[in-house]
Amino acid sequence: MEKIAVFPGSFDPITLGHFDIIQRAVPLFDKIIVAIGQNATKNYMFSLEERKKFLIDTFEGIDKIEIDTYSGLTVDYVQEKNARFILRGLRNPADFEFEKAIAHTNRAMTHEIETVFLLTSSGKSYISSSIVRDVIRNNGDYKMFVPDAVRL
Ligand code: ADP
Repeated sequence: MEKIAVFPGSFDPITLGHFDIIQRAVPLFDKIIVAIGQNATKNYMFSLEERKKFLIDTFEGIDKIEIDTYSGLTVDYVQEKNARFILRGLRNPADFEFEKAIAHTNRAMTHEIETVFLLTSSGKSYISSSIVRDVIRNNGDYKMFVPDAVRL
């Protein structure tokens, strides 16, 4: 059975933190679906099309990685894709608490799906999309925090 993982997120925009987690997960799975979840209540800086293009350009040529978008519950999407794993990254205790609650909730709903966490690499743990958006809003040099494909 193929080992398929879904890496769900907002990717508004993708950062070198996300990139690091995805790259390190490549040897662990047969396929990784990087999936942009659409949340109607969230205000995004980048449109869905822009965020998707950043991901497509970033992972161009890596066969194991697929880019997609979805709405609704992550577990429903994961099952629809015949995946058994959700991939998430952990930066700090706040991430841990948040991710723990989500993972338990998902597991309560769907026992077949395991969430797999990778710890951020040292030097990447401070990078977050929200801070990158702040840097962009204030005309700072955001390029050192994001893959080359992310350009305004
Ligand atoms: P969400 O809106 O679902 O939190 P994000 O795009 O902000 O989406 O994050 C998706 C995943 O990437 C989360 O598991 C988050 O913890 C992880 N992540 C974000 N930044 C980093 C980083 N610098 N290092 C490791 N993991 C990260």
